[in-house]
Amino acid sequence: MTEEFRPALKPGDPLTVLGAGRSGVAAARLARFLGHPVRLVDEGNGLSGELAETLVRLGVSVETGYAITPAWVSTLPFAIVSPGLPPMKWAGEEAPLFRKNVMGELEWAAMQTDVPMVVVGGTNGKSTTSALLARLLESGGERPFLGGNFGTPLSEMVLECLESGEARYSAAVVELSSFQAETLGSLSPRVNLLLNITPDHLDRYPSFDSYRSAKWNAFKTQSPETWAVLNGDPSSGILPIPGLPCRTAFFSLEPEESPDNAPGLVISREGDKARLRGVPECPEISWNTGRFSLEGHGNRQNMAAALLGAALFFLDRGIPLSGLEKSFEEVIASFRGLPHRMEPVGEWKGIRFINDSKATNVDSTRLALRGFREGNPSLHLILGGRDKGAPYEPLRQEIVRSVKSIVALGEARDRIRKELGDLVPFQVAQSLEEAVELALGRATSGDRILLSPACSSYDMFHGYEERGRIFREIVERFIAKRTEKNPGGQS
Ligand code: ADP
Repeated sequence: MTEEFRPALKPGDPLTVLGAGRSGVAAARLARFLGHPVRLVDEGNGLSGELAETLVRLGVSVETGYAITPAWVSTLPFAIVSPGLPPMKWAGEEAPLFRKNVMGELEWAAMQTDVPMVVVGGTNGKSTTSALLARLLESGGERPFLGGNFGTPLSEMVLECLESGEARYSAAVVELSSFQAETLGSLSPRVNLLLNITPDHLDRYPSFDSYRSAKWNAFKTQSPETWAVLNGDPSSGILPIPGLPCRTAFFSLEPEESPDNAPGLVISREGDKARLRGVPECPEISWNTGRFSLEGHGNRQNMAAALLGAALFFLDRGIPLSGLEKSFEEVIASFRGLPHRMEPVGEWKGIRFINDSKATNVDSTRLALRGFREGNPSLHLILGGRDKGAPYEPLRQEIVRSVKSIVALGEARDRIRKELGDLVPFQVAQSLEEAVELALGRATSGDRILLSPACSSYDMFHGYEERGRIFREIVERFIAKRTEKNPGGQS
């Protein structure tokens, strides 16, 4: 790995920030604070006058309408790239790995701080796990920052601490996307979680293997005493595990399948106990997890990951877990998850509506369905949107087990019909509103209408949040109309 170092930057060394979104602007401000001459370059003209003026006042040279090309980027002594800038623009390829003269905003910000970090990566579940992990750290007395790929860029945290001169955060929980992971060459968080690797973004990566490499790239520079926290369940797609330079712990919901003798955390079959085992710094310890309220198999994995990550973080700090049993259990019981991820949005005549609009790939929908395996099929599933290249066929087994009918919409509807149309009653809708109506037409008391599209939303909406919000509004309108007409709800 010796050729893979980047020259250390000194104050006064010039740098160029590529992309003037929120992360790029934060990186430019931080770089100025650290004494670098900074160019902030963007292809669009998107910066508001006020923001541009502030940056210019800080001494940042703002250059909008600039054509960023790979040839030009390769001539720069050092560039920081915002996660929003498509790699084709700066690298000339879809999925670049390490580059000597280019660093992602998150990695660069991480180098400017001593705040110990927990990183959360994987195809699905990152935001939910990060949010729960931050709550667990807080319950043990930490002051965690929560951000990265989701919410606040890490550069903003670092700048806030440096500008205030205060130790505002004692820990940082950082969500890492594969786009951010792929260029890493120096990150070594105290704890680095990998939740799963399943086909996604195959429209962008040349193969599933290159997508896997991007995910594992986040571990290659960890120092020996740090932890990799990995999903031990075979279906998580993370196997085979490459040789890692750090310690490894596994979380598992399938105890008999999890790697023998490896340190880690196992959730009981009933889901009511989490047991930490084999960690040399800690005697066996259990938490009661029976009051965890989020639906879905994926969410139980997230809970296991967050518990193990938090436990190792505290042990790494020399803090015994014995005092944290009750506080962890309280957090697990009170955590309500994040909007658009298996979020209950209404109930009418015993039919429950669930918004899982964030399921923008096949595997997140698969795991959502898997959480409803018990008993007879009760789901009316709304699928579809913009196709992302992965097959829908992995849903077949779960559909047979838990789905009563499917409504497909959006650009992907014909492909979905071809791959899944023969299993259960199948309908096609032109709009989300029609999809809800069609699903309702088949639902009876005790059923659930689940929006878990397995596709991105960009064919009909401005993102999964808008799709989820509109779903919620449709459901609320529908319930309000029926309740007005018939306050007793007996229509
Ligand atoms: P990310 O930040 O990785 O996109 P989220 O927590 O926002 O993850 O969840 C994204 C989608 O994946 C949601 O639809 C959610 O219900 C589903 N999901 C959550 N956790 C998991 C998991 N561990 N495995 C698979 N799908 C999951």
